[in-house]
Amino acid sequence: MTILKIVNLSRTYMKGQVEIPALKDVSFDVEDGEFVSIVGRSGSGKSTLLNLVGGLDTPTAGRIIFRDRDLAGMKRSGLALHRRKSVGMVFQSFNLVAHRSALENVVLALTFGGVPRQSRKPLASDLLAQVGLTQRLNHRPAELSGGEAQRVAIARALANSPEMLLLDEPTGNLDSSTAKEIIDLVQGLNRDRGLTALMVTHEQDTAEAVSDRVIRLLDGSIAEDSGRRVAG
Ligand code: ADP
Ligand code: MG
Repeated sequence: MTILKIVNLSRTYMKGQVEIPALKDVSFDVEDGEFVSIVGRSGSGKSTLLNLVGGLDTPTAGRIIFRDRDLAGMKRSGLALHRRKSVGMVFQSFNLVAHRSALENVVLALTFGGVPRQSRKPLASDLLAQVGLTQRLNHRPAELSGGEAQRVAIARALANSPEMLLLDEPTGNLDSSTAKEIIDLVQGLNRDRGLTALMVTHEQDTAEAVSDRVIRLLDGSIAEDSGRRVAG
């Protein structure tokens, strides 16, 4: 089944009187269980695209059909629900709440997702264990290594059982061996649980190694789409 259908999507930013076309007439579909990587140089529109799919921004034109709902026509409340329930987002800079512990960061996401109070802490510990973090649960982000912080961010992204993971350069702030661990973790979530993943990376090699398909953006347009790899 198709989980995401992007149709003639454009996003133009205004900088004073100047129009900046960050995304221009982009169309592609993502199937359930696919691992799609988005590559392209800095400024090519990768984050713009991911933020639109994540419901953090609204397009200038086009449609973003997630399951059977078009995010482009949604009100704020609909987009908030989409962010809480349908997608889990992971960013280069982790974006954890600085004054909360690892455990509390995940608990917070469960709270927003409407999980009953008494279930939150056990569920948060379980999610952190699933991403390989069984210690340092009571440490704050500043007391964690980059790899540990990104594991917390991934546990938080998984908190409300999203249908799709959206990752914006998740290894951009990590050394290469830690980056590999994080990529392996994401690949495991995709392969073992069939969790659909859309990942922005500037590393073409990583993209080709781990994903079913690589889409390359150039100046806001799709320059290349490797298509689906034949199964088996
Ligand atoms: P990438 O993630 O590929 O580096 P972005 O999607 O962040 O690229 O940016 C694409 C283009 O849109 C760039 O020219 C960038 O400067 C511009 N842009 C991104 N966000 C904004 C914004 N909020 N306001 C104005 N211009 C923006
Ligand atoms: Mg970016």
